[in-house]
Amino acid sequence: MKRQSDAPQEHLGSTGGPVMWDGLDLTAELKPFQSKTGDHVFVVDGSRIYDLDHECRSFLDRAFAQNGQANAQQTAALWHALGLSRESEHRYIGGNAIDLPKVRSISLNLAQTCNMACRYCYADEGHFGGRARLMGEEVALATVDRLFLEAEPDARMVLGFMGGEPLLARDLLHRTARYAWEKARREGRDIRFSLTTNGTLIREADAELFRDLPFTVTFSIDGTRDVHDLLRPMKNGGGSYDAMISGLETIERVGRPLQLAARATVTARTGRLLPLLDHMIELGFDDVGFSPVLVSPDPKLAFSAADFQTFLSHMIECGEKALREIKAGRSYPFGNLESALQEIHRGTHRPFPCGAGAGYLSANAEGKLFACHRLIDDPAFAMGDVRNGSDEAARTRHLSRSHVDLMEPCKRCWARYLCGGGCYHEVKARGRLACDYIRGWLEFCLCAYVELSNEASALAPVTGMPETINSLNKVSSEAAVHAPPSNA
Ligand code: SF4
Ligand code: SF4
Repeated sequence: MKRQSDAPQEHLGSTGGPVMWDGLDLTAELKPFQSKTGDHVFVVDGSRIYDLDHECRSFLDRAFAQNGQANAQQTAALWHALGLSRESEHRYIGGNAIDLPKVRSISLNLAQTCNMACRYCYADEGHFGGRARLMGEEVALATVDRLFLEAEPDARMVLGFMGGEPLLARDLLHRTARYAWEKARREGRDIRFSLTTNGTLIREADAELFRDLPFTVTFSIDGTRDVHDLLRPMKNGGGSYDAMISGLETIERVGRPLQLAARATVTARTGRLLPLLDHMIELGFDDVGFSPVLVSPDPKLAFSAADFQTFLSHMIECGEKALREIKAGRSYPFGNLESALQEIHRGTHRPFPCGAGAGYLSANAEGKLFACHRLIDDPAFAMGDVRNGSDEAARTRHLSRSHVDLMEPCKRCWARYLCGGGCYHEVKARGRLACDYIRGWLEFCLCAYVELSNEASALAPVTGMPETINSLNKVSSEAAVHAPPSNA
């Protein structure tokens, strides 16, 4: 057996002291999988991957045939065989509450209104179920001040601009970004900006702002013209593709921001994804990702559990093309695969799906804070306001009830420390429909990771490739052969 990844582990959860492995449900702790290069096991605690020799694979097969229940002696032997004897004295992650992180990222909903009428929009065209409104300057600047107050002095802060369509509040966006940038320079702080936009309103002055300050600009684009125009009409019913492309051309002409990303929303009717991915990558985005719709005012567009089976096969088709391109030394920035590979490589193990309510908050037009941009104006996720500060008690309550080890059925799921239990907004509205898809996609990504790391030393570093792929070259491939379980 050899350890695939020797990346340092993140400790996002309290270890809660020593926890022995006796009586473990192995199906919740180990995920055996088979790649083109052989048999492997994913150790859930700490997100580690090991190669399996034939005898260990046989032991696991027998343990799993008994529904994953292995007695203490067998489990100890398996852990010894995996070379985990010393590490087994404690867990990397436990069910105890974590220390409340400092806020380091706040998004501003500058314009809770939109110039488009996307058919699936969860935000009710930016109104979030209320009336259309724009944020005032006093609220926007107070949000910046609040971020600087709450973030650690040496943290990299992120100020996000969202909506609705944030460029409907263009002047305020410019003033707020410049205010935050100057304040960061004066105080010696590190700040970055992000903007999510439909791209239809971008002018040269906007592109200059995104070029001159450290901006990640994410376009909402659904793929080719026909798919995009069908789902993302303007308010007058006309298509938005041409206006979006015009915004993209303005950015290309003026100069690119730090990162230019595309996020495509996939509905139950979208169909194959590969032609859409090819098209968006050809448009020149640095990162292209897909997000399925679970919450939509038009229920025909929202995914059912059955739709996720088709989605998985379409995602794997994209992932296989990305793998071929990577192996051929060509850039193919499929964001869903890249982010999964990065998490696997880092050994990420986290008890939450995202930073909502933890290090990340979102401010509505009046300056009230919520756990994230999708949970704006939901009283169950209210977390203070920008003038008086984030509500630490509400954030602590939110995190202590959201730990993935406390959730059913998550606490018995092998994918739990990579998945984190599912988006709060989607779980609240639809429950957990996507679990088989999440596990299927992660298993594909685990196989892809092993294949790439085995081949990495043979691949020359490629200019423009994601850092993860190139850094796989650095993964140790030292073999550590251990005896198989003696009592298997
Ligand atoms: S949401 Fe589903 S896939 Fe994610 S941890 Fe929970 S059970 Fe597993
Ligand atoms: S709750 Fe959902 S939408 Fe909000 S930040 Fe988390 S994953 Fe994203």
